[in-house]
Amino acid sequence: MSITVVGSIAFDAVRTPFGARDRMLGGSAIHFSLAASFFDVVHVVGPVGDDFDQAQYEVLRRRGVRTEDIEHVPGGRTFFWRGEYGWDLNERQTLETELGVFADFLPKLSEASASADLLFLANIQPDLQRAVREQCREARFVALDSMNLWIETARSSLIETISGVDCLMLNDSELRELTQEPNLVRAARKVKEWGPRIVVAKQGQYGAALVSEEGFFALPAFPLETVVDPTGAGDCFAGGFMGYIAAHPGAELDHSLLTRAMAYGTAMASFNVEEFGVERLPGLSTEEIAERVARLHQITQFSEQPVALRA
Ligand code: AMP
Repeated sequence: MSITVVGSIAFDAVRTPFGARDRMLGGSAIHFSLAASFFDVVHVVGPVGDDFDQAQYEVLRRRGVRTEDIEHVPGGRTFFWRGEYGWDLNERQTLETELGVFADFLPKLSEASASADLLFLANIQPDLQRAVREQCREARFVALDSMNLWIETARSSLIETISGVDCLMLNDSELRELTQEPNLVRAARKVKEWGPRIVVAKQGQYGAALVSEEGFFALPAFPLETVVDPTGAGDCFAGGFMGYIAAHPGAELDHSLLTRAMAYGTAMASFNVEEFGVERLPGLSTEEIAERVARLHQITQFSEQPVALRA
């Protein structure tokens, strides 16, 4: 079993109140694949330029991530993104986006990537996401993430791409912008009319909510004392969520499995924000992940005890 991901493979410049990095490995597909690599084999699809060297490949290969479908474009520049956060880490400003080699990229998947069990269309131009979706016909579960840039510049292509997936995973503000519905339940209903039967609204430091055919589930973010850089948290959430599903081949994708997948997504995202970029995940142990999921379970349980209410 395996997972294929297409998304940005990037160099990021990030400033937060706790420090800055000028040029670090990043991109939605990179954050996703490192998180998902704790659950299954991950194939990354996307282009890089001459500035992407062995050190970057090594970060992925050391976690067993398959890099055969990372296409090196001679003479090209790798996608670059610059962003800044203030004291509210749920708000960020994009200062620069250079598409570089993504501008002319036409994905051609190898047999191994095309026959993956799960597919994640991480945040990138929606035509590219669709081109990958069309080549990955056998996937039993397909999820998609996007962002305000594509909602504003490629809305109809994005909706067409969304119509071919099982699960839409967006920040809640982007979900509101895309559906033009201020209410999560109504927004999810609208998305379901387009095709996906599952909607996950990511709410940054407040956690994430799931709307499936069977019901609603919300999970707070893991209560951390130290958050250094929220970049990639959403992709790591997706990596843990999809990874958990991939680790249950043949299981019915019901509400209860999806809620447990949410817990793994929440745990993976919580590790990622403790350091800049991808600095935290490669050194993570499986025991640390299991412990954090167990603590999340403890934190979110409450004992029900009805009280006599006054009419
Ligand atoms: P997240 O914090 O989960 O939304 O993802 C952060 C990652 O998204 C960064 O590593 C950036 O390289 C990447 N990114 C930023 N803007 C874009 C964009 N327009 N398209 C694709 N990826 C992007």
